[in-house]
Amino acid sequence: MRKRDYRKKQIGNRQLAPETQMMGYGYDPMLSEGSLKPPIFQTSTFAFSSAEEGKGFFEIAYGKREAAQGEEPGLIYSRINNPNLEIVENRLTLWDNAEMALVFSSGMAAITTSMMAYLRPGDVIVHSEPIYGGTEYLIRNILPEYGIKSVGYLAGTGEDTLSPTLEKAAKLGRVSVIYGETPANPTNQLLDLDLMARCAAAHGETHGHRPVTMVDNTFLGPLWQQPGRHGIDITLYSLTKYVGGHSDLVAGGAIGSYEILNPVKGFRTIFGTQSDAHTSWLLMRSLETLKVRMERAAENARIVAEFLREHPKIKTVNYLGFLEPGSPLKDIFDRQCTSAGSTFTFDVIGGEAAAFAVLNSLQVIKLAVSLGGTESLMEAPYSMTHSDVPDDVKDRLNITPATLRVSVGIEHADDLVADLAQALG
Ligand SMILES: *Cc1c(COP(=O)(O)O)cnc(C)c1O
Repeated sequence: MRKRDYRKKQIGNRQLAPETQMMGYGYDPMLSEGSLKPPIFQTSTFAFSSAEEGKGFFEIAYGKREAAQGEEPGLIYSRINNPNLEIVENRLTLWDNAEMALVFSSGMAAITTSMMAYLRPGDVIVHSEPIYGGTEYLIRNILPEYGIKSVGYLAGTGEDTLSPTLEKAAKLGRVSVIYGETPANPTNQLLDLDLMARCAAAHGETHGHRPVTMVDNTFLGPLWQQPGRHGIDITLYSLTKYVGGHSDLVAGGAIGSYEILNPVKGFRTIFGTQSDAHTSWLLMRSLETLKVRMERAAENARIVAEFLREHPKIKTVNYLGFLEPGSPLKDIFDRQCTSAGSTFTFDVIGGEAAAFAVLNSLQVIKLAVSLGGTESLMEAPYSMTHSDVPDDVKDRLNITPATLRVSVGIEHADDLVADLAQALG
């Protein structure tokens, strides 16, 4: 029998596209009774065929020796590895053309494990603002308990506010991580990824320690923005959102080089923050439709954004497709994003009461937090997802009681417009 290469990336001279690879990459049906779809490997542990084999598997898993040419890491225990976890990790590398991906039990597990792998007591983390509420809480309330300080810088000015922030941070301690989120939740503020990579390198030259760069790519990745291609070390995801895409699972991801991610993997094994077999299997199913879902949602989002922009009861629409041509932000967008995506905020005229009236009148769009699912969702960040962010910070970031965030789904666009029209009416 011919052994097929189940990690084939091309046929002849043709490089296969990621959306094609999502249906097969990293899985050999012949290892599973010919089952076309990977079974769910619902098991905590794996049998070794001999004691020698078990010893060898551990030597590789714990880094005691390098794997020989063609030697696959053996399956040991589902906190260390599992076929469903490995298949989904292999597929997640393809959009970014990355060496390695790690999948976690949540986006916060991916973020926390990656940060803990690179931050030590006395270190400083420099981060963009705004960032996801959970990440902000981690940096502001939990990391200081471990002697880790933080300095924020405002995203979206289009000028280099990072270099002066890094110099300020270096006075507090060793800057070991530069963290960013772009487009930022909820405002869609953009960060210049090339600039972040350049600043990290320059800081390494002058201070003798290059900070590791980490970017939360939940809003546009993996389709429309690949931070690794701009020199960012770790690309982070809440896979709960677009990649999971059906609002039925919680998971996270980290993507990068072997060298950068191996310490993170070691921490994950000990923290136990890996994704379980069933969730990994659901993610695999979701990856098959990722491209069509994200494309359809983005088409719908443009129609919804254009409707809102013309509506007399709407003050502003923070949709990336409306960036001013020639502006510094549009320049960043053109260099690193290939779509405006489908999550954005807008402000209703009339304050919180008017915004709540819209939310309470929705008939198709659902009133819920989270984003990136097949169904459209709306919420009020000021009092919901970003409730915990201090008011003065929200004021500075233009998140007001009248701000609504919409995650546009894959329904018929005209139904979404009709729903918003009646809710605003
Ligand atoms: C939801 C979200 C997270 C957290 O992910 P969980 O899967 O909920 O842990 C992190 N970053 C962004 C931008 C998010 O939207």
